Amino acid sequence: MSEHLTTVAGVAVDTRHFIGGERIAATETFTDVSPIDGTPLGEIARGTGTDAAAAVAAAKAAFPGWAATPRAERARLLEAVADGVEKRLEELAVVETHDNGALLRSHRRGVMPRVAHNFRFFADRLRTLGHEDFETCGHTQHVSWDPAGPCVLITPWNAPLLLATWKAAPALAAGGTVILKPSEWSPLTASLLADIATAAGLPPGVLNVVQGYGPEVGAPLVAHPEVRRVSFTGSVPTGRRIAASAAAHLTPLSLELGGKSPLLVFADADLELAVDLAVEQYDNAGQVCLAATRILVEEPVAAEFGRRLAERAARLRQGDPRDAATDLGPLVHPRQLEKVDGFVRRALAAGARAVVGGHAAGGQPAGGHPAGGRADGRDPGDGRGAAREGGLYYPPTLLTDVAQDSEIVQEEVFGPVLTLQTFTTEDEAVHLANDTRFGLAATLATGDHERARRVTAQLVAGTVWVNCFYVRDLRAPFGGSRHSGVGREGGDWSFDFYCDLKTTVTAP
Ligand code: NAD
Repeated sequence: MSEHLTTVAGVAVDTRHFIGGERIAATETFTDVSPIDGTPLGEIARGTGTDAAAAVAAAKAAFPGWAATPRAERARLLEAVADGVEKRLEELAVVETHDNGALLRSHRRGVMPRVAHNFRFFADRLRTLGHEDFETCGHTQHVSWDPAGPCVLITPWNAPLLLATWKAAPALAAGGTVILKPSEWSPLTASLLADIATAAGLPPGVLNVVQGYGPEVGAPLVAHPEVRRVSFTGSVPTGRRIAASAAAHLTPLSLELGGKSPLLVFADADLELAVDLAVEQYDNAGQVCLAATRILVEEPVAAEFGRRLAERAARLRQGDPRDAATDLGPLVHPRQLEKVDGFVRRALAAGARAVVGGHAAGGQPAGGHPAGGRADGRDPGDGRGAAREGGLYYPPTLLTDVAQDSEIVQEEVFGPVLTLQTFTTEDEAVHLANDTRFGLAATLATGDHERARRVTAQLVAGTVWVNCFYVRDLRAPFGGSRHSGVGREGGDWSFDFYCDLKTTVTAP
């Protein structure tokens, strides 16, 4: 096996950059480690400014040809990529689970089929993407969506390929060329995507993948004057840096950032459904931007709701994400475990009460790959909630007695940590729901449609779910308000972002 290839669960992955249709080795590498058990997965190219410049040059060179490719042909090629994803679905699922620790069954059933769907959806949409004509005093006004140029796409680790293709599919459909920079904590499936795109027949330079750390290779990509779009999904602090850097060349940008979304449970709700919705927030070990981690319950049902939720949360099975019976896998990285544990420790010190969880497994919160057992010596029972040897496990946690202005209520934890607060009036519920700097999503549980309409109208959120969670249609706009983001992608909004709109006025 070459030094540039690694094998993960039997799947060969090239660890170099992919630039201009070729694999490019880096002078330095970094080690990618599995969060499941600390196994090294490979030595990954550690990109630099030189690699960033080479990738932009390749994307720029490929742009005129790709932009001029007839839409029907671009759509056909994107569908071939979707076919390739489906053909290698099992490999993609297995590799991503080893890389970021998310559940294998979710990757198989939900995530990877959605990756293929991202390509099919935007290929299909491209076929119907129109032009619009208006008449003004006999003059025709013709609106067209023109390809814009090289697009830099920077993505996080919590849903690596899903988020990468949610951006790459419309950017490519729109006639743009792409430089994808995946997270250094989950670099592998982006490399497989490059292989799939090549096999599908995408011309060299149309899709490029550069690996490495954000400040070392992401920052020079964003700052590059030839880049015509930057689409970023990640944290608020990085989003702010990217926005400041893109401002130098007025590069249009789309930011999909963090959240601290509420779940509002009204007394008229189907309580079992409300508990189901709350339990869903532990999915992906809470590492979901949209997660409704602040649970706000109307006073009369709060005790019963809290009791049922605590019971369900305590029963969630934590362990190896490859095991079909597992509900919660590990956190992605020792730094993430340290961060989550720090949030909970400070919340407990400030007076919060842990109804469930609240301790890093093995009592070794920070930095280590803890062994099983519990800090408080309590028996984790029949294995549920117990950590596995070597993994980065944090138990599902439910905190009460939290103040609205406390850190645990105001800041994104990005782990399996929910807070429970109560309210007595609808106005108070809306006030609490809106009282953070975020505005990504909100979920309501109520049996009263009129109330749902009233409350929804007052919520600051890019997406509101009523009596459901995480149901998404790619035709709808997606994004966040306030510090949760800038702009919207999805459906034709993606084409609006990745294209330059042009109005041509022709005299009679
Ligand atoms: P992060 O901001 O640390 O990193 C995200 C990406 O940015 C990585 O690829 C990283 O290498 C790169 N990066 C870091 N510094 C950079 C710089 N200076 N210039 C260019 N690129 C740079 O975020 P993360 O920890 O990987 O992801 C978790 C965050 O992502 C959470 O806040 C979560 O809410 C958010 N997120 C948002 C959405 C959404 O759709 N709104 C979806 C998923 C995750």
